[in-house]
Amino acid sequence: MKTLRLRDGKERSLLRQHPWIFESAIARGAADSGETVRVEGHDGKFLGWAAFSPSSRIRARMWSFVEADRIDAAFFQARVKAAVDMRPRLGITSNGVRLVHGESDGLPGLVVDRYGDTLVAQFGSAGVERWKAVLADALLAATGLGKLYERSDASARGLEGLPEITGWLRGEGPTALVLQEHGWQLGLDIATGHKTGYYLDQRDSRKAFADTVARLGSRRVLNCFSYTGGFTVAARVGQREAGVEGGEVTSIDSSGPALLQARENLRLNGFDDTGCEFLDADVNASLRRFAQEGRLFDAIVLDPPKFAPTSAHAERAARAYKDINRLALKLLVPGGVLFTYSCSGGIPPDLFHKIVAGAGGDAGVDGYVVQRMTGAPDHPMTLNFPEGDYLKGLAVMRRA
Ligand code: SAH
Repeated sequence: MKTLRLRDGKERSLLRQHPWIFESAIARGAADSGETVRVEGHDGKFLGWAAFSPSSRIRARMWSFVEADRIDAAFFQARVKAAVDMRPRLGITSNGVRLVHGESDGLPGLVVDRYGDTLVAQFGSAGVERWKAVLADALLAATGLGKLYERSDASARGLEGLPEITGWLRGEGPTALVLQEHGWQLGLDIATGHKTGYYLDQRDSRKAFADTVARLGSRRVLNCFSYTGGFTVAARVGQREAGVEGGEVTSIDSSGPALLQARENLRLNGFDDTGCEFLDADVNASLRRFAQEGRLFDAIVLDPPKFAPTSAHAERAARAYKDINRLALKLLVPGGVLFTYSCSGGIPPDLFHKIVAGAGGDAGVDGYVVQRMTGAPDHPMTLNFPEGDYLKGLAVMRRA
């Protein structure tokens, strides 16, 4: 067994059971890609077992802090089973569920989403790459399912020195699926969609938006960064519930295929295209154009991609968030609502609040913060891994 020796003073985060060891914390020791190493403090005292990542700045990721643990197939079977068995306890109203959320489930780098009877996995670190076959079998055993598709094409793979790999890992079947969320039908494609095919982390926010549109009877709705139209369907559902006449929903995304799927998703839920606009366009430019045209909205969603992957990008990202929020707040009628989000790990919730407040200041708009939102509970953060708290949102109601 190879050993990693840490520098004096670099043991602190591991003693708090934080799962990452940065390159700069290591005094000596190395191993092959994904190989299990024994991690010890500068004084040689045992700290834990980790997977080595030779080319990543996060040079090792912890498997365990227990000296008696053996990092073997049984270890991974138990980790997978624990994660899968926890999900029914979370009250999820969908058959699309994140079963494994990386570090939060003790499996750094592994993401597994279940869409009905199909599993989709991303192997994003050298450690889980090395244990892929064991993990794949463990996933089938824990779920009783037979189909597992691999989407190891996220950019993080490059940082780990791993090639992109996609395709069926176990079993085979269609990649175009329909998932049920809050009783809505949402089509997706696990082979060509973003990430594993869908943004399950916004499940609760889509429901909150539908409920708000229903309560307020919002007639003109704008869904920015709509992807496959989850919030678009939510808006239509809310309008139907409120009996809104002449409802309009505009969806903007820079991905043409996503917009086609959004149209299809309306149809799947019994809505026609009347009053629906799908713009294959840049959100920032579209918001500016609406402002010039004097167009106003009763409810707006802003769910942009990750502007700040790490805190190093926070400043530039903050400007980008502020810009779109300022534009969106200006397009809101008094009493209207903005559902605004950031999925950047580098932007903590209090900073996001400040950014939106600053946007309101610039726009000359004040509003009530009527709801604070986080990622759905199957994308948990844990007490030891605050980085898991990546998704945050605010619902802001414009004051009259
Ligand atoms: N709200 C969606 C998820 C949004 S993900 C849901 O509930 O499923 C972010 C989306 O922003 C992606 O679909 C991406 O194609 C789109 N996007 C990224 N940059 C954009 C830009 N500048 N203008 C418009 N869309 C953009």
